[in-house]
Amino acid sequence: MDDVLASQVAAGEVVERPASVVKELVENSIDAGADFIRVEIRRGGVSLIKVTDNGCGMSREDVGMCLLRHATSKLYSSADLFDIKQLGFRGEALPSIASVSLISITTRRAEDVEGSRISCEGGVISPLTNAGCAPGTEMSVANLFFNTPVRRKFLKSDETEAGHVEHQVRLHALAFPHIRFVFVRDGQVVFDVPGTQDLRQRIAGFIGREMASALMRVRPTEAPGVRVSGFLMPLSAARRNRRMQFFFLNGRPIEDTIITRAVRDGYGGFPTGQHPALFLYLEVEPALVDVNVHPAKREVRFRRPSELTMAVLEAVASTLAAHARGGDMPEEKTSSVPVPPLVLRPVVQPIQQELTLPPSEPLRKAPPTPLPPLREKTEIHSPSRPPEPQARKAAPTAPECPTEDVPGFRHIGTLKDQYALFENSEGLVLMAPRAARERIIFERLLQSERRPIESQRLLVPEIIEMDVRDMGVVRDIQPQLEQAGFHVAEFGRNTLRLEAVPVFLPLQQASVFVHELLQVYTRGELRLNRSRNPFEPFARQLAARYARQENTAMWLAEPMRLLAQLLRCEIPYCTPGGKPTLLPFPMSEIQRKLQAQ
Ligand code: ADP
Ligand code: MG
Repeated sequence: MDDVLASQVAAGEVVERPASVVKELVENSIDAGADFIRVEIRRGGVSLIKVTDNGCGMSREDVGMCLLRHATSKLYSSADLFDIKQLGFRGEALPSIASVSLISITTRRAEDVEGSRISCEGGVISPLTNAGCAPGTEMSVANLFFNTPVRRKFLKSDETEAGHVEHQVRLHALAFPHIRFVFVRDGQVVFDVPGTQDLRQRIAGFIGREMASALMRVRPTEAPGVRVSGFLMPLSAARRNRRMQFFFLNGRPIEDTIITRAVRDGYGGFPTGQHPALFLYLEVEPALVDVNVHPAKREVRFRRPSELTMAVLEAVASTLAAHARGGDMPEEKTSSVPVPPLVLRPVVQPIQQELTLPPSEPLRKAPPTPLPPLREKTEIHSPSRPPEPQARKAAPTAPECPTEDVPGFRHIGTLKDQYALFENSEGLVLMAPRAARERIIFERLLQSERRPIESQRLLVPEIIEMDVRDMGVVRDIQPQLEQAGFHVAEFGRNTLRLEAVPVFLPLQQASVFVHELLQVYTRGELRLNRSRNPFEPFARQLAARYARQENTAMWLAEPMRLLAQLLRCEIPYCTPGGKPTLLPFPMSEIQRKLQAQ
């Protein structure tokens, strides 16, 4: 009886309501390789949950085992825990469900002449019998929580529970478009979506053809160990709740506030109470996530949340930006783009391979963005970076963007001395100059390997006092400092000598600037990550700081030039930290708002 009790305790974690039973059963069917899964419920799932699949089925021995605790066939070693290809690996679900219901399992492997059936009532297993049945498995769970009345009392109305079950099946259907899903409620077929290779078609099965025509395919976005794909709906089709926002992590539906926030930033924010419909698929190296923070809930913990949020944000922002520019992705035109299998395959390897390849879709490669110096002249040039007179002299007039007109945009004014206003064919566009500069500078810094950043030498080197313990940190970021145009030499045990800074940094602010920059690292607010490009976070930090100390009035005086530079960026829509640079107010929106009065 101990085991039954243990299972009931475990059931508290795994089986909260009918939808959680459905989740476990459907996941098992998916793990069994099924491409047809039928879910039937009665009375919200309380009186019956029946999941039928055409998966691999179980042998006689396996059926006898599967109701015992930790009888999973899926866990091979503790190393597997970090490489989760399968949805279940705890061997806890079936015993837990069996301990609080009447479960009956009928199953047959394709190679067996006959199937087997076993049933179990409140954890008490009855003898195995033979059964004639089709290959696959049918799990029938009746009378849920019949022996745990308190739990049963906590259930909501049949209607509500059925709604949760439907949502659960839908989640799985969106995560596994190649599987046909049928959902039957109280004898009525609620949906029957055929298996497809086309994710858009699967989504259309739920949101309707008409809505589906507005779906935008997410520009494939990658960061180390992270890949983002999926579909977005325009903000104009936003809903009043989040029920149309779906996030999948390595095939599992997840709910995560940091991702939700990244999406909001990617859209450039949206009005409170509005939630654009979206279907985002994240593939993350399993080693970077803890999926089993909670066995049944959809919480995950990311080891590098900032990179993930950046990838999500950039995916959303660049997709919207591409569509705003009228640049549909070429693949958008073909209607049946194969969806990459999202799970049930080793995830680590493909991601690593993809990361070494060039981006699958070349980003609209812009000519390098010029970074006009704030100072007209530089005193002396660093000896290690011989001056390039032409480039230097030409820089203020931005030689690489001879036309400072952006076709389709007309400057119509300045708002409160803070924002530039433009009109384009879509409507009104507001530009935040500081955010724009941050993006431009960031991308320019990232090009520094190909186009070195020019330095200006200080006539009298500045001395920066450091804590001795922090000198190691300075040594660590020396290469990044150099790459960004700073020359910092060690000068004694706890002293640095600042010898040169990038041309666009005002000299009188140089030492304070560098000191503050170093503090971010010495205080541990930012760490260098050796395993990936350490320059990028550094550049992000630097760009934000540069932009902050700039005089925005100067840029507001040349709004077109700033806009031109911004639109040449790979991701013009937001700062590297996700703040919007441009805020569009489409005519349709304006008219809708004004007519609504
Ligand atoms: P887990 O999924 O964590 O392994 P479960 O308790 O959910 O644990 O399932 C126990 C075992 O029962 C599985 O490992 C699998 O071998 C078998 N099983 C469960 N459902 C199915 C199914 N639909 N088809 C084939 N085998 C199944
Ligand atoms: Mg399972």
